[in-house]
Amino acid sequence: MPSATVSSATLPKATLPEWLRGPRFSGLPPLDATAAPPALSFEFFPPRTEALETQLWACIRRLEPLAPRFVSVTYGAGGSTRERTHQTVARIVAETNLTPAAHLTCVAASRGEVDDVARMYWDAGVRHIVALRGDVPGGGAYEAHPNGYAYAADLVAGLKRIGDFEISVAAYAETHPEAASPEADLDNLKRKLDAGATRAITNYFFDTDVYLRFLDRCLAAGITAPIVPGIMPVSNFAQAAKFSAMCGASVPAWLEHMFEGTEEDAETRRMVAAVVAAEQVRLLRANGIDQFHFYTLNRPDLTYTIAHLLGVRPTR
Ligand SMILES: Cc1cc2nc3c(=O)[nH]c(=O)nc-3n(C[C@H](O)[C@H](O)[C@H](O)COP(=O)(O)OP(=O)(O)OC[C@H]3O[C@@H](n4cnc5c(N)ncnc54)[C@H](O)[C@@H]3O)c2cc1C
Repeated sequence: MPSATVSSATLPKATLPEWLRGPRFSGLPPLDATAAPPALSFEFFPPRTEALETQLWACIRRLEPLAPRFVSVTYGAGGSTRERTHQTVARIVAETNLTPAAHLTCVAASRGEVDDVARMYWDAGVRHIVALRGDVPGGGAYEAHPNGYAYAADLVAGLKRIGDFEISVAAYAETHPEAASPEADLDNLKRKLDAGATRAITNYFFDTDVYLRFLDRCLAAGITAPIVPGIMPVSNFAQAAKFSAMCGASVPAWLEHMFEGTEEDAETRRMVAAVVAAEQVRLLRANGIDQFHFYTLNRPDLTYTIAHLLGVRPTR
């Protein structure tokens, strides 16, 4: 046998008294197979290339049998990106049984331009809009278009004047990075809901406590609409950490530790990703949450697996 490279002082103490000294965790409650499964929604981004278009449609076809409540398509800045959103939404309407929700933003467009897009969606039978402010392309401080909707709350009110859309808005369990204060951000969320939105979808988060505490704060502020958790199954930790720094989602040390050493090991990384996301949604479900929004990144497998663990089964 090779000689030990670890000193005996660093080895775990293999005695029952040591094992049994700490707290007991008896496990998450089992899913109730007789209860209705949670309502899911899936978010996609519009593809830039033909290869990405093929990937997106493979993703949509894989997730379609899970009968999500709606699927949403993000909206970018600039004409061609926006056109791709319209085309993707139109194809979902024409070729699937899914209910689309089109994201729409205020940034870099006049009210007239935004209203025209909303009318186009209404005429095409799209009844659900995810109404957002958006960010300045390439970064930098946000400045409202001189003739535009300044904030998402203004957009929600504008959309309601055009048609009786179902409207979802964004919420930030860890506070939007540009908010004057957590209280001001919560007031803003309330304004968006009071203006006619029926639900909020949160930016993704990794610590369940952060989200649950946010729900307490929402309720205390008089908000009763569902604040649906946005779930991002992380399969590329380095990328997720970089993006999180920009959108104000904190990355806990335990998450980094979970992915440590998997940089060159895609298979282990995927399994870790599934375990992390599964634990998160099961904990949320145990806390009574019965709606989930998945940031699929146009990849179906993790979302499909996690939906399965939540008791969601294909309908056909
Ligand atoms: C579920 C979800 C989906 C998203 N989809 C997209 C997408 O498709 N395309 C895209 O470009 N981005 C998207 N985003 C990102 C989003 O556009 C950015 O996070 C953006 O910075 C804020 O958008 P918002 O709708 O939350 O803005 P708002 O609700 O308008 O708030 C923006 C900031 O301004 C503050 N604020 C609001 N009103 C006022 C006021 N009157 N005076 C002063 N401050 C005020 C708020 O507190 C907040 O800090 C999405 C985010 C989420 C959570």
